[in-house]
Amino acid sequence: MRDSIHASLNPVVAESGPMVAVILLAGGVGARSGFAIPKQYQMLGRKPVLQWSIDAFNAHGAVSARVLVSAPDAADHVSTQGWSIQAAGAERQASVASGLAALEDLPDDAIVLVHDAARPGVTVEVIDRLIAAVTADDQCAATPILAVPDTLATLTEGNGAQGVGDVIDRNGLARVQTPQAFRLGHLRAAHIAASDQAATDDAQLVRALGVKLVGVAGDARLHKLTFAEDLLILTALCNAQPAMRTATGMGYDVHRLVPDRPLWIGGITIEHSHGLDGHSDADVALHAITDAILGALADGDIGDHFPPSDEKWRGAASDKFLAFAGDKVRERGGNIQHLDLTIIAEAPKIGPHRLAMRERIAEILQLPISRVSVKATTSERLGFTGRREGIAAQAIATILLPEDESHDGF
Ligand code: MG
Repeated sequence: MRDSIHASLNPVVAESGPMVAVILLAGGVGARSGFAIPKQYQMLGRKPVLQWSIDAFNAHGAVSARVLVSAPDAADHVSTQGWSIQAAGAERQASVASGLAALEDLPDDAIVLVHDAARPGVTVEVIDRLIAAVTADDQCAATPILAVPDTLATLTEGNGAQGVGDVIDRNGLARVQTPQAFRLGHLRAAHIAASDQAATDDAQLVRALGVKLVGVAGDARLHKLTFAEDLLILTALCNAQPAMRTATGMGYDVHRLVPDRPLWIGGITIEHSHGLDGHSDADVALHAITDAILGALADGDIGDHFPPSDEKWRGAASDKFLAFAGDKVRERGGNIQHLDLTIIAEAPKIGPHRLAMRERIAEILQLPISRVSVKATTSERLGFTGRREGIAAQAIATILLPEDESHDGF
């Protein structure tokens, strides 16, 4: 009855084929992966793993009902507009059932795609092939499959070392991926029939009811994220490396020399009759580099982020400011290509301390030392630096930032 109402109200949709829904499973915590956060929220290129699947289904014109089965905090990590969020169950099967509950108003002949968010490389073409297969025969379900490229062998009990037994004919085998496509009625019936089992594959549950399961061409990009190294594979497969632009920033700072203060410069202390005066430890070199990085980010200056009026920064170690700028670069998906620092001082001699400064700056920013240059010059006894009243520092930072970011800055 619902079908006929639907068809009479919206003949365009009816003519173009059955309604298509998706259940996207993102409830797994990925305990095997070794990631600090659940794997579905791990960044792949510039967006979380889960966002890739969400965007792929959003981009497919035929998919009109979308259910995300996840922890309630998914919306804090990804953009879920247009998706209804259902609570994940303890097992995969319970999660699928949770997704089915959200689709209870849909007719049995609607097509439902069930997809695992740990396979971020889902494409419009795979979705097309699945919908076409199930549309062509309303008594079948469909799954993407790939050939098995490696020789397969059984394992045998070894004495210590693992024994390898007979080779299995891989011509009769396939790798099974998701999304998988079903008539909604078949999936509903399969879940009722198997409510007392813990199945990991919906296609097999549906097959157990006598529904034919057909394979469509899978896609290497549907590689499953299980271990940390899979992220590298997926980054290449999904071409997830964003286009980058080069940004440069300049920093300049001066501090007054006064007696009886430790001289902090370039992240180290140097034995000297005078030290630099200031609200923090007054490390003029780290301040110049921090400002250069913030300049390349178009994100204000050191005083914006660490106001001298704030008592909490009195006597602060300047490596905090520099590490903060380095974190900002990482948060923006960028990386520091090079830093060049020039210290302008009559005394003390900087040369003997250059290597220690480069090492310390590289350490604070987690960079190879080859990306950090430290130079020094005097000003030929001219001006305030020449009269030993203060020390100046200049720095230039070269960083790479994603081309397509939208960041307003400070
Ligand atoms: Mg300063």
